[in-house]
Amino acid sequence: ATELEAVPQAQAGDPTLSLLSRIGTVDPTDLDDYRAAGGYTALRNAFAIGPAAVIREVTDSGLMGRGGAAFPTGRKWQATAGQPDAPHYLVCNADESEPGTFKDRVLMEGDPFSVIEAMTIAGYAIGAHQGYLYLRGEYPRALVRLGNAIDQARARGLLGDNVLGQGYAFDIEIRRGAGAYICGEETAIFNSIEGQRGEPRSKPPFPVEKGLFGKPTVVNNVETLANVLPILTRGAEAYRTGATKLFCVSGALGKPGVYEVPFNESTTLRDLIDLAGGATGSLRAVLLGGAAGGFVRADELDIPLTIEGARAAGATLGSGVVLAVDDTVELPRILLRIAEFFRDESCGQCVPCRVGTVRQEEALHRIADKTGADAAADIALMREVGQVMRDASICGLGQTAWNAVETAIDRLGAYE
Ligand code: NAD
Ligand code: SF4
Repeated sequence: ATELEAVPQAQAGDPTLSLLSRIGTVDPTDLDDYRAAGGYTALRNAFAIGPAAVIREVTDSGLMGRGGAAFPTGRKWQATAGQPDAPHYLVCNADESEPGTFKDRVLMEGDPFSVIEAMTIAGYAIGAHQGYLYLRGEYPRALVRLGNAIDQARARGLLGDNVLGQGYAFDIEIRRGAGAYICGEETAIFNSIEGQRGEPRSKPPFPVEKGLFGKPTVVNNVETLANVLPILTRGAEAYRTGATKLFCVSGALGKPGVYEVPFNESTTLRDLIDLAGGATGSLRAVLLGGAAGGFVRADELDIPLTIEGARAAGATLGSGVVLAVDDTVELPRILLRIAEFFRDESCGQCVPCRVGTVRQEEALHRIADKTGADAAADIALMREVGQVMRDASICGLGQTAWNAVETAIDRLGAYE
C-alpha cells in the first residue's frame, strides 16, 4: 500500500469500487504493480476487437462525459473517427479547475497508469497517434506521477511506435496550464497548446470536426476516460448496469473527500451526505455542480443523484461538486466569492461576460454593504444581466456565471 494522498480517501482501496479500487492499494509509481492489478487488460481487449468495436462498446455502455456537460462519449468518438481529414488528435482535459472539484486529481495522483492506458485506447479508437494531456498547473504531484507513468509505458512498449507489438503508434505529451480557469474550456485548451492566448473559440464547428491545429479532435475529461477501462474489461452491458460516478464532497461534513457511488436513481443526495459523515452543523443548503451549478435546499436532499434529478431541482451535477453549507456560513459572502471568481476568470473576449461579471459583482457588493438604494432593484438588474450573459456569451463561463447566485436568491431566499 502507498501513502494516502492529500485529498482524504474514505473509500481508498475498496475492492467493490470500479474507479477508486486501485487508489491507495496499487503503487502509482510502479507499472508492474498496475499490471498485476489487471492493468492493460482493457488495452489488450481493445486491440482484440478493433477500433470500430471499441467505439460500439463505448456507445452501448451509455457513457456520458464526466467533465460536466454529459455529452455521449461514443458519439464524440464516432464523429471524430469518421472524419476524412487527418491527423486526428486526442486531448485529455485534466485542467480540473471548477471550484470544489478534485476527483480527477485523485485519479491522476493515485492511479496514473489507468489514465495513460485509457488515453491509448481512446487514441486507437479514433485513429489518433498523438495525445495531449492538458494538466492543471497547480497539480505538481499529478505531473510527476503522470510523467513517470508515461516514461515507464514508453520504455515497456506500451506507448511509442508499436504499442504492444500491434503496429499502432501512439504517444502522449503533457502540457501544463498556468492557472487560468478558462484554459479548461476545450477550445481554449487548443489555443493554449498551439501557443496562443488561452481564449475559447466559437462552437460550432465542434472539436470532433475542427479541433487542435484545426484537425478532428476528441476532448475527454480524466474521469470519462477512466470509465473506458471497466467498459472494455467487463463489457458494455455489465458496465451499464453497474455504472458509477465520482463526487467531490466538501464543506460542513464529517468526512469530506472523493466518493464513488452508483450512478442511477438509487443514490440520493442524502445517501452521499450520509456516506460523507453527515452534516457537522445545521445544514442549510448544498451547492451542486460547482460555481456553475446551483444551490439545493436542505429539505431537498432526497433528489436522486442523476443528471435529471439535479436538473429537476434547478441545479446540475456538473463536475460532481457537492459542497455542504451550514448555518454558520454567511451565504452572501459565498455568493460574493463566486461572483468575484467569475469576474476574475472571465477571459474578457466577449462583452456580455466581460461586463456582466463585473456588474454582477458590483450589485452583490452593494447589497452586502447596504450601499445601494434598493436591494430589489439590484436583484432585478442582476436578473437582466444574468439572462444576457446566459444568452449571448461565447462559452460556458459567461453562460453559467449567474446560475449559483440566481438559485441562492430564488431557492434559498439569500437576501430576504
Ligand atoms: P458543451 O455542452 O458545449 O459541450 C460538451 C462536449 O460535447 C464538448 O466536448 C463539445 O465539443 C461536445 N459537443 C456538444 N455538442 C456537440 C455536437 N453537436 N457534435 C459534437 N460534439 C458536441 O459544454 P462545455 O462548454 O464543453 O462544458 C460545460 C461544462 O463544463 C459545464 O457543465 C461545467 O460543469 C463543466 N466544467 C467543468 C470544470 C471542471 O473542472 N471539471 C470546469 C469548468 C466547467
Ligand atoms: Fe471569455 Fe467569458 Fe466570453 Fe467565455 S463567455 S469567451 S470566458 S468573455
